[in-house]
Amino acid sequence: MNSLRLRAAGKINLFLEILGVRPDGYHDLYMVLQSIDLADFVTLKPANSLSIHCTHPLVPNDSRNLAWKAAELIQKVYGITQGIEIWIDKHIPVASGLAGGSADAAAVLVGLNQLWDLGLTQIQLQELAGQLGSDIPFCVVGGTALGLGRGDELTALALPKPLHLVVAKPKEVQVSTAWAYGTYREKYLPHRLADRANAKEMLAALSAGDVHRIAAALHNDLEAPILPAHPEVAALRERFMDNGAIGAMMSGSGSAVFGLALNRFEAENLFERMQGDGQIEIHLCHTVLGGVTLEDLAS
Ligand code: ATP
Repeated sequence: MNSLRLRAAGKINLFLEILGVRPDGYHDLYMVLQSIDLADFVTLKPANSLSIHCTHPLVPNDSRNLAWKAAELIQKVYGITQGIEIWIDKHIPVASGLAGGSADAAAVLVGLNQLWDLGLTQIQLQELAGQLGSDIPFCVVGGTALGLGRGDELTALALPKPLHLVVAKPKEVQVSTAWAYGTYREKYLPHRLADRANAKEMLAALSAGDVHRIAAALHNDLEAPILPAHPEVAALRERFMDNGAIGAMMSGSGSAVFGLALNRFEAENLFERMQGDGQIEIHLCHTVLGGVTLEDLAS
């Protein structure tokens, strides 16, 4: 049987608003999610048992890995006794708000559907994905989407032309997602003003493909607790603006920050100007239409 190699796109949040707390304990979100070309590569090789291989020091090579959990879920739900070797070539910065683990898990779901000939529809894949984590359904399909509920009630959005951006992450800063949401819930949610963030303007800006309007409408509620607690993230965001980004925002619960540029040329300039600081990891990026895509077939 053949092996599969899949490209698993990371994401940024162009908009993230926390509307409240749900009875199930999750937060009610209003998000605009966007796939970017910063991607991991996941290779699936038929095997007798389940194993995972990733050389990144922060990525677990066992059942704690989201990609492992994805394979295990498919095995359990469809009664599959075959195993799989999962090889992850990590490029998406880990624990950065760019959904690296979610993208890997999405790639495993899409890949095993093909490799094990399960015939699952995209809706079925997204339903499985939702059992593993709230960003995973988006990572399966990718592109530009509105995410409501836990972030997994998705509606595709059209983006008339790609956005060009630079993504940077302070190397030493780790933000706990649970802490960020918990702090927002305690300190900020009770004082939230219903009309503070302008989601409608973001949707209008996206459909018009107006980069300046998109930049002005960027919003992330999680910046409120995270920026004061992690001055390196706040400084990075400011550095983007000082270096000519037309808008800058932390992605998800950080610690990655992205800076939007007017076009590819300006993004390259921004990328050059952001260099020279060994404390950050930096990537020149653009938006992409898909989440998981098949790379090639190897035997
Ligand atoms: P999100 O944007 O969905 O909140 P993230 O980008 O903040 O995700 P990840 O890179 O997915 O975070 O990693 C978060 C933690 O999950 C890591 O510290 C790591 O230990 C664990 N993890 C499990 N599986 C993976 C994986 N395949 N890739 C990266 N991290 C993983």
